[in-house]
Amino acid sequence: SLELSKKAAAVKPSSTLAITAKAKELRAQGKDVVGFGAGEPDFNTPQNICDAAIAAINDGFTKYTPASGINELKEAISKKFKAFNHLDYAPDQIVISNGGKHSLTNIFTVLLNPGDEVIIPAPFWLSYPEIVKLAGGVPVIITTTKEQNFKLTAKDLENAITDKTKAVVLNTPNNPTGMLYTEEELRAIAKVVVEKDIYVVADEMYENLVYGEQKHISIASFGKDIYDRTITCSGLAKSYAMTGWRIGYTGSSKEIAKMMGSVQSHQTSNPNSIAQKAAVEALTGPQDSVAKMHAEFDKRRKYMYERICKMPLVSTIEPMGAFYVFVDASEVLGKKYKDTVVESVAQMAEILINDYNTAVVPCADFGFEKHLRLSYAISIEQIEKGLDRIESFLNDLK
Ligand code: PLP
Repeated sequence: SLELSKKAAAVKPSSTLAITAKAKELRAQGKDVVGFGAGEPDFNTPQNICDAAIAAINDGFTKYTPASGINELKEAISKKFKAFNHLDYAPDQIVISNGGKHSLTNIFTVLLNPGDEVIIPAPFWLSYPEIVKLAGGVPVIITTTKEQNFKLTAKDLENAITDKTKAVVLNTPNNPTGMLYTEEELRAIAKVVVEKDIYVVADEMYENLVYGEQKHISIASFGKDIYDRTITCSGLAKSYAMTGWRIGYTGSSKEIAKMMGSVQSHQTSNPNSIAQKAAVEALTGPQDSVAKMHAEFDKRRKYMYERICKMPLVSTIEPMGAFYVFVDASEVLGKKYKDTVVESVAQMAEILINDYNTAVVPCADFGFEKHLRLSYAISIEQIEKGLDRIESFLNDLK
């Protein structure tokens, strides 16, 4: 038979979506499964946002819009960038796409020529390397350490840059670690980026989900040199419980925005017209439901962190953002469960789903083999039940 695309064949299916699907399937069979796999808030989209979408439908706002999004939403995003991120992006520097994944696809499509390298610090959100490869680039993984809270240092970055390096991906707050970069760390990275003249892809998808004293900081806000070399990417999915609506966006130079708009005009045309109207309401309407979700996430975060700290054989660092706890399970490896030796975290995840009805995400696809990710985007009752089960698994090991 004729050979299919090598580029497409090299793409790994998303393992997080596979785990969520397996948990759903078991639940459909009547099993009482706790799913720690979720990459999405468990809350419903706030009612005012839903109402805006219904109004858009009833008003006949159901046709094509400009390919890179409606001006009303670009204005709202521009104001948000200014007020929240201290960033000046005019509407013509903004491109609205079908979710953050699509924004990232546009970014790498516009930045990369075949063979260009993109530095990705591990642990990383599993889609980055795949999106980079699809855009013709070469992912270069730098493994960070627990001592540096799994964050890229300026020195690591400097050492990894070659004459092929086009960009570095910086994700704060981070999926899967829940870590935030401090101003000092970001300034040091920005200095290297400017000196070496590369781009930063700043994925700030979880910018609203920051807990405790520390604040979210956008690297592009430090001055013109770094601003010119940054594409800032965010979206509505995580902050407004709008994962299914598919709205992501970028702020960049006018030149890059124009190129991304042209690419998008041929590949997908505009993001959904109704979702765009809903996004205007999300950004400009009342924010009280966001505050409520935030408070609930924070409560769950603390509970989960404290419980995991008390469990045998696992450890974690207190997460300060997003809705994930990144768990070191290296001490589980080599222990015996019934008659078998647990040899990998993937195997541990298999046992947990099959024998304890609990879905967790092994992080091999996130570039960290001995860790797993637990999401707290589920109710506190579910978290309690699931952690009880994980604890009994750990106690059952010999
Ligand atoms: N960036 C990060 C770090 C994510 O975790 C996600 C979603 O899981 C995205 C981007 C993409 O979000 P979406 O495509 O749902 O807008």
